[in-house]
Amino acid sequence: MPRDDFAPNQAVAVSGEVPGDDELHALIAGAVLHRTDLVAMPGFKLDLSANPGFRKVFFKAGCECGTSALLSVEVGGDKTLGEIEAVLPTLAQRIETQADSFSRMSCDAHRQFRMGRAAPR
Ligand SMILES: [Zn+2]
Repeated sequence: MPRDDFAPNQAVAVSGEVPGDDELHALIAGAVLHRTDLVAMPGFKLDLSANPGFRKVFFKAGCECGTSALLSVEVGGDKTLGEIEAVLPTLAQRIETQADSFSRMSCDAHRQFRMGRAAPR
């Protein structure tokens, strides 16, 4: 199937409603679709934030050295589909900025980054 024919899950919510998790994810994934270095992580829920009023959408960026970084954007929990669409370029840019700063790091830095993450205690 040609990539141009790929459509993110058709949004079911109308613009005045709060979209479901899948719709929210599809919306943001669709906005960064041109970034082939990013992997969408639908359904990945990790609540590290002390921001219970926010919903997080995760992406993964990888490097050829084997290190990957978890990227995320937060969306206010009460944002409607219309409100999210209005700020979609900004949300996409936040993900892209995080991916860019990850890819600008040297692989030495990546390895340290990875070791830091792999040492929970
Ligand atoms: Zn690397």
